[in-house]
Amino acid sequence: MLRQSLIDYGKPLQATEAATPAPQGTEVLLRVSHCGVCHSDLHLQDGYFDLGGGQKLDVRGNRPLPFTFGHEIAGTVEAVGPQAQGIAAGKRYAAYPWIGCGKCGLCARGDEHMCNAPRALGVTVDGGYATHTMVPHPRYLLDVEGIAPEIAGPLMCSGLTGYGAVKKAIPYLRAGPLLIVGLGGVGMMGLQFARALTDQPVFAADIDVAKREAAIRLGAVEAFDPADAGARKAIVKASGGGVGAAVDFAGSDKSLAFAQATVAKGGAAIVVGLFGGSFTLPVPMFPLRALTVMGSYVGSTAEAREMIDLVKAGRIAPIPVETRPLDQTSRSLDDLRQGRIVGRVVITP
Ligand SMILES: [Zn+2]
Ligand SMILES: [Zn+2]
Repeated sequence: MLRQSLIDYGKPLQATEAATPAPQGTEVLLRVSHCGVCHSDLHLQDGYFDLGGGQKLDVRGNRPLPFTFGHEIAGTVEAVGPQAQGIAAGKRYAAYPWIGCGKCGLCARGDEHMCNAPRALGVTVDGGYATHTMVPHPRYLLDVEGIAPEIAGPLMCSGLTGYGAVKKAIPYLRAGPLLIVGLGGVGMMGLQFARALTDQPVFAADIDVAKREAAIRLGAVEAFDPADAGARKAIVKASGGGVGAAVDFAGSDKSLAFAQATVAKGGAAIVVGLFGGSFTLPVPMFPLRALTVMGSYVGSTAEAREMIDLVKAGRIAPIPVETRPLDQTSRSLDDLRQGRIVGRVVITP
C-alpha cells in the first residue's frame, strides 16, 4: 500500500510503501477513498501543542516513524478478519477514529475517545493518508450510504466535535439561549447541530464579517463581533440576561474570556477549540455565578451514530470540499498552515 508519512517531526510528509496487511481477528481492512486534511494534523506534524505563555505540550508520544496521519477516513471494505461480523465487503463506511484500548473503565462506558491508552487512527496508530487502513473492529465503522463520500470522513472529526460540544450545552439552555463563538468549520457544524437539537435561539460570534453573515444564513438569530467593545453587553441584552451556554470553538485566551462573560448564572462555557493561551478568572466568580467551565473533546461512537442520523436526515448544509490526490497531502498541510484553504481539503488516495 502507498502512504504519505511523517519521517521526522517538523518536516514535510514523504511517500512510503508498505505491504498491505491482511486483517486478523475482528479487523477490517478499508480501501481508503477519502481522508480529510485536518488542522490537528499540523500539531501532530510539529510534535507539540502551544499551551500559551511559552509552554508546549509534547504530542510526539511513542509514535513509530515513519507514521501515517489522517483520521477523517471514509472508504470501502476490502477484506475482513475471520471474527469481523456484520460488515459487507464493497460497502462504504466512515471509520470512527477515536478508538480506545477497549479494556479500561472509560472504554467500558463507551467513552473510548477519552481513553488514556488510545489506538486512535491517524493519531496513535497509522491512519488514512494511505491507500489502505486497518480498523480493529466493525463497531468503529459507520454506514454512510447516502452521505457524500468526501464529507463522510470530516464528519468523524469536525462534525463529531461540533455535535459532542453542542450536546453538552443542551442541559444548560434552561438558563438561556446558546452562543456559538468561532465560526470556522467546526463552529459552523456546531451551529447547524444546535439548530437541529434545540428550539432555543442560537447566537453566533466571530471577528470575521463574512462568517457572521454565513452564520445568519445557517439559522443564527443574531451574530456579533467579539472585537466590538459593546458585544458582550449586546449579547446579554439580546439573550435576556445572558446565554445558557457559550461554546468556544476558537479556544484562545481571548475567545474564552469573551465566551464565559456572556454566560448567565447557572450557565456553562464549553471549550472546544485548541488555539492555545491561558485564562484566569477570580475564583469567587465560579460560585457567585454558579458557573460551569468545561472542555469537550470529539465524541463517542454513540454520538457519532446519532450525528450520522442527523446528517442523513438532511439537517446539515453541504460543506465546500476540494479533493486532491495522495501525493498532495504534504502540500495540503502547508496550505492549511498558511491559511490558504477555504472550506475543506480531502485527500483521495
Ligand atoms: Zn480532524
Ligand atoms: Zn481504554
